[in-house]
Amino acid sequence: MTDAQAPTLADLTTFRVGGPARRVLEPADEASLIDAVTACDAAGEPVLLVGGGSNLVVSDAGFPGTVIRLNALKGIDAEDVMACSGAFLRVAAGEPWDNVVAHCVANRFVGVEALSGIPGLAGATPIQNVGAYGQEVSQVLARVRAYDRFERRVRTFSVTECGFGYRHSRFKDEPARWVVLSINLQLRLGPDSAPLRYGELARHLGVEPGGRAPLADTRQAVLDLRRAKGMVLDAADHDTWSAGSFFTNPILSAEQAAALPADAPRYPAGDQVKSSAAWLIEHAGFHKGYGTPPATLSTKHTLALTNRGGARASDVLALAREIRDGVEAAFGVRLVPEPFLVGCSLES
Ligand SMILES: Cc1cc2nc3c(=O)[nH]c(=O)nc-3n(C[C@H](O)[C@H](O)[C@H](O)COP(=O)(O)OP(=O)(O)OC[C@H]3O[C@@H](n4cnc5c(N)ncnc54)[C@H](O)[C@@H]3O)c2cc1C
Repeated sequence: MTDAQAPTLADLTTFRVGGPARRVLEPADEASLIDAVTACDAAGEPVLLVGGGSNLVVSDAGFPGTVIRLNALKGIDAEDVMACSGAFLRVAAGEPWDNVVAHCVANRFVGVEALSGIPGLAGATPIQNVGAYGQEVSQVLARVRAYDRFERRVRTFSVTECGFGYRHSRFKDEPARWVVLSINLQLRLGPDSAPLRYGELARHLGVEPGGRAPLADTRQAVLDLRRAKGMVLDAADHDTWSAGSFFTNPILSAEQAAALPADAPRYPAGDQVKSSAAWLIEHAGFHKGYGTPPATLSTKHTLALTNRGGARASDVLALAREIRDGVEAAFGVRLVPEPFLVGCSLES
């Protein structure tokens, strides 16, 4: 395990904001990771797990404890590949997620192609049940192995035990409890994508919604669409110095949804209604690129707050508050941030 010379959280996150940590550890394997977490817990030392740092906003004061990076825990192992039941993969928490998608597409494993280009590491994918372009990781997760910091033992959860919902899981509910060590995916075999549920992606590929397209074409189409929205990391493109979508799409009661303008997006979500945070932001008057550098909305997508260079967490949070409050004033809907806010909040 290396005790790297403490970089700041700005160095470890895609938003590039956040002050220093007391120390930063990079365990080389699962046993060292568990040892490190256990030692911190025993000493009462706060722990911040960091994967790709793509869903984190850390305060300018930094983190008063130990940051534990997960990036050394690599590996994609095919446990079984059978024509009848599909492919079973075990992926270590530190494997970059997009490597997993590329591996699946290259091997004709179906079910994650629409999740191409999502930054971060595999171990974080169950935390908020990552999703994009009509797929969510929970649709292909078979098991999640996690270290339970409360009971000090490794536990394995089947997908039904993970409490998955829209950008939600039991792991997100108790962030101080779980360290995801590995995930198991179960994927169908075939040359084509899963049915394309997302209209924009289906149109881009020239198929009807619900149709299929070759796996590699689908991955490329998703990457093209994402790049055009600043949703593929690119150090040269400040529109990607972000945490992706800053707000989740609001889930509303039927009554709240009815009060929105007639042309506001409405999608069924159980007995509730999901609307579009991007639509609400735009229609509340916040256009692409809104704001004053160093923190502005992305010039490609109203849902991403971005660092134009030299932003501090306080700049990002001030813009986030302005947008949340503007949307609430216009539509009575209070948007909820999607990234984890560490040592800071939108309330202060
Ligand atoms: C440009 C861009 C585009 C994005 N697009 C999408 C998208 O389309 N869909 C989507 O869902 N998300 C998207 N995101 C958000 C983000 O990429 C995902 O949430 C991703 O899964 C975060 O992974 P990470 O390794 O970077 O997690 P981090 O940001 O490092 O961590 C996020 C949180 O999870 C915790 N955590 C991380 N790893 C573990 C672990 N192994 N065990 C326990 N806790 C852990 C951390 O402590 C932290 O609280 C995007 C982000 C960016 C910057």
